Amino acid sequence: MPHPRYPQGESYGLKGTNRGDFKNDIAELKTLNMKLLLISNSTMPGEAYLDYPKHEIKTFLGNKPLTALFIPYAAVTFSFDEYEQKVADRFGELGYQIKSIHHFSDPVKAVNEAEVIVVGGGNTWQLVRMMHDNQLMDAISTKVRNGTPYVGWSAGSNVACPTLRTTNDMPIIDPKGFDTMDLVPFQINPHYLDANPEGHGGETREQRIEEFLEINPDLYVVGLREGTMLLVDDHQMRLIGNRTARIFRKGTTPVELNSADNFSFLL
Ligand code: ASP
Repeated sequence: MPHPRYPQGESYGLKGTNRGDFKNDIAELKTLNMKLLLISNSTMPGEAYLDYPKHEIKTFLGNKPLTALFIPYAAVTFSFDEYEQKVADRFGELGYQIKSIHHFSDPVKAVNEAEVIVVGGGNTWQLVRMMHDNQLMDAISTKVRNGTPYVGWSAGSNVACPTLRTTNDMPIIDPKGFDTMDLVPFQINPHYLDANPEGHGGETREQRIEEFLEINPDLYVVGLREGTMLLVDDHQMRLIGNRTARIFRKGTTPVELNSADNFSFLL
């Protein structure tokens, strides 16, 4: 099945032919009622794993006991079993079960039958490669477009965007395509960082995003600082957390928006 916005094989970016599809699909996206919780990072310094977002996860998923399908594919230096256990511990405390996709012989079927989809962080390139290898990019995208709640953090938030190109990660593997699930029509830069270490000559995060926008001028980028998340529900989007998000668009000065602002213009 071709990617919903960018037909297979066509490169993403300035290509004029993609612009029409882009607009049509934005109209289509607005007719869907997706439920997304896109979290910047799993853990704040000095805190336990997935501690700060746990109340928001609970509010998002509700009181009914659910079994969430977990996608651990972003793990590189630790096993899927270990990852599943860590996430299961936290979700268990909230009243939900976690079952990782690596236990299923037919991953697409597991997605099609899932009550909730949870995608954990790690290396985004590895995650995208494994999602492609297992035919999950379209499977999860279709499932979530049809209303199944989606929780992602970090790399799991990157793959909810049109492309993986605003990840912070090193390209450790050929992702077999840069297009991701396109659940939201803008890019997230998770773990967004203002500071540049003293005496360090490398690009700032802002400079890297400016480079992205130079090549991809039609997209917004949301710099999502640690400790914050975006909630999409009922055709609305808002920011949760005490820090502002920095919104980048080519040719405009970046804007800082807080949790009282309406983010729905990005949808
Ligand atoms: N490596 C991040 C994560 O924790 C993703 C990113 O920074 O783009 O998933």
